[in-house]
Amino acid sequence: MPKVLIIGAGGVGTVGAHKCAQLSNVFTDVAIASRTKSKCDHIAASVKQKTGQDVETYELDADDVPQTIALIEKTKPDVVLNLALPFQDLSIMDACLATKVDYLDTACYEPRDESHFEYSWQWVYQDRYADAGIMALLGCGFDPGAINVFCAYAAKHLFDEIHTIDLVDCNAGNHGKHFATNFNTEVNIREITQDARYWDRGKWITIAPLSRHVQFDYPNIGARASYLMYHEELESLVKFLSPVGLQRIRFWMTFSPSYLTHLRVLVNVGMTRIDEVDYAGRRIVPLQFLQAVLPEPAGLGKGYEGITCIGAVIQGVKDGRRACKMIYNNCDHAKAFDETGAQAVSYTTGVPAMLGAKLMLQNTWRRPGVFNVEQLDPDPFLADMTKHGLPWHIVDWSQPIDDTAIVDHGPMGGDV
Ligand code: NDP
Repeated sequence: MPKVLIIGAGGVGTVGAHKCAQLSNVFTDVAIASRTKSKCDHIAASVKQKTGQDVETYELDADDVPQTIALIEKTKPDVVLNLALPFQDLSIMDACLATKVDYLDTACYEPRDESHFEYSWQWVYQDRYADAGIMALLGCGFDPGAINVFCAYAAKHLFDEIHTIDLVDCNAGNHGKHFATNFNTEVNIREITQDARYWDRGKWITIAPLSRHVQFDYPNIGARASYLMYHEELESLVKFLSPVGLQRIRFWMTFSPSYLTHLRVLVNVGMTRIDEVDYAGRRIVPLQFLQAVLPEPAGLGKGYEGITCIGAVIQGVKDGRRACKMIYNNCDHAKAFDETGAQAVSYTTGVPAMLGAKLMLQNTWRRPGVFNVEQLDPDPFLADMTKHGLPWHIVDWSQPIDDTAIVDHGPMGGDV
């Protein structure tokens, strides 16, 4: 009777719970735990209404390892889906190790006091997970996640050598708010405001945050200004795709002029600071306060219009000839909301998390140790993606991003 325990009752947790409950032949039982139990109860009621399935709900502070161990021992899951925040990755991995239960997450560990994420903190669990006979699957959302699977598929089927990869992420939707983030505000703004980095012929190149952009023509959307950023999948893809000849990899994300104007103001007035300041006799972190006054990602779905496009533009050699392909998905906010009550950014993250857990439970992907998704066979994952709401496409692409069209300017999209 395979059981899944989802930790985190935000936008992604909402989708994860719905998608697992839809597949009751794989996930016989579903439980969800989070810091605020009422959010778990709200999700359980929505799942019951849409699928007829019951979801158990629990209050949990996943920063607390003994508390997390106790909940795992009580609920006895076969796999734990960490859909809370990157700050909880190590404590939940420790709890899974202590209870010998498989683990999956969608975001790489990041310490609270530093805007810096890297896989090394989780890769060091490799021997302990392998010795315990359990698996940790890291970064199984969309980016990271499905996009790493696209790259693994390209290396397996489309190219003999891969030379360059540009990962591109566009949200062309409109939620009707002046300013909101589509996933956890604290994590999102820490990511966007840190220095941008990309990898070129063996070296990491660092530039100021959001100080370089290019117009990229997204399938079914059109041209959008896309800003160079550092994203965690660059680290694992460099490690695992270098053997097939990778020379350069970059990550680009779209931001509207209005979003960038708001962001610049927030940065300039200190509202994105992650250190504590004195306020009315208390110590508070400005970015956490900002999160408290902005809309929650889980509540953005109603009335959200438009689509997303996330993909990989991959250039290399096949049978002695130069080739360039784009592999991508479009996801519709309104359709995602109708199905799960959440918008497309949560949907494109929660569906791959469910698919990764499914392949682990079915022993298709399961193996002891710590893995990133591109280390595993891409075929079964891609065979499932369209079936479960995320159709993907491969098209011939005329060329990789044209470097002569790149524009450099001030940080945070300034002076564009
Ligand atoms: P939300 O802020 O909507 O949800 C996060 C949830 O985690 C909240 O319910 C929160 O509880 C809960 N939580 C926070 N701290 C704890 C804790 N200590 N113990 C238990 N629960 C806790 O975020 P999202 O759903 O948008 O994002 C979830 C994760 O998905 C993030 O790690 C994000 O980085 C990742 N992500 C990955 C993507 C990918 O493609 N790979 C894309 C988008 C997101 P409370 O409500 O009480 O604060």
